Amino acid sequence: MNIVIASGKGGTGKTTVAVNLASVMEGPVAYVDCDVEEPNGHIFLKPDITSATDTGIPVPVVDKDKCTGCGRCAQVCRFNALACVNGRVLVFAELCHGCGGCMLSCPEKAISEAGHVIGVVETGHAGGIAFAQGRLNVGAAMSPPLIRAVKAAAPSKGTVIYDAPPGTSCPVITTVRDSDVVVLVTEPTPFGLHDLKLAVETVRQIGIPFGVVINRSDIGDDRVRRYCEENQIPVLAEIPDDRRIAEAYSRGETAVAAVPEARESFTRLDREIRRLALDRALPKGAPA
Ligand code: SF4
Ligand code: SF4
Repeated sequence: MNIVIASGKGGTGKTTVAVNLASVMEGPVAYVDCDVEEPNGHIFLKPDITSATDTGIPVPVVDKDKCTGCGRCAQVCRFNALACVNGRVLVFAELCHGCGGCMLSCPEKAISEAGHVIGVVETGHAGGIAFAQGRLNVGAAMSPPLIRAVKAAAPSKGTVIYDAPPGTSCPVITTVRDSDVVVLVTEPTPFGLHDLKLAVETVRQIGIPFGVVINRSDIGDDRVRRYCEENQIPVLAEIPDDRRIAEAYSRGETAVAAVPEARESFTRLDREIRRLALDRALPKGAPA
């Protein structure tokens, strides 16, 4: 089962939920950090990293001897990664999406491709948990290819927990795609509700079953709960604002290691997630 832990905004406790879930699950389990701009699951799981593989995208290389300076490639590029100035083509590799459009459009066949490293995929183990994370290079603008590479490094068997980047843009969609169930982590505040609505819209359009975890559930107001009720969105768990969990977080420890009753809470959440995935996978009326 592929479970994505996501949130409409950063700082809601997404990684806390992801690492604690991975820590209580039985059987083969993997934690995959797709938040490649700021991976931080490793702080809590403390994995032994056993391999690191550079990941890149193909960027254009212009053969000056063949290029006539017609400018066609720069017109084709929708990402402004090419400019033709005084008959000379300039390549801005950091803006390139590796689509290959310029190469196809060049009438002189003057463009070839070369790999441009955008980050690294690291894999290892944290006790019994298989671990993978991506680290995007500073200045690299394109995270989806690296996220795809991190996802490809996940084991093909057992349960895989994907820690998604925050927000609702391309990197999140790349992470969520092909998953079995999505858990949206939010807070019961006006900002939390606003970003939850955006995340719900995104996941609904992709058509994957999802539920909500309300973190720091005893702060704020009850508008998130009302919204979930009115829109028939299951609330899978509510995690109270517990100083012991916050202190464990600041020490780089999982809640389940530091707070005795947290293990039971996350085990219950695991059951709720599996029930949700099963309910939505079965046709109505079929025996569970
Ligand atoms: S399309 Fe080809 S020939 Fe024209 S400017 Fe670009 S590289 Fe040069
Ligand atoms: S590969 Fe695509 S994104 Fe990159 S420079 Fe060529 S047209 Fe632009």
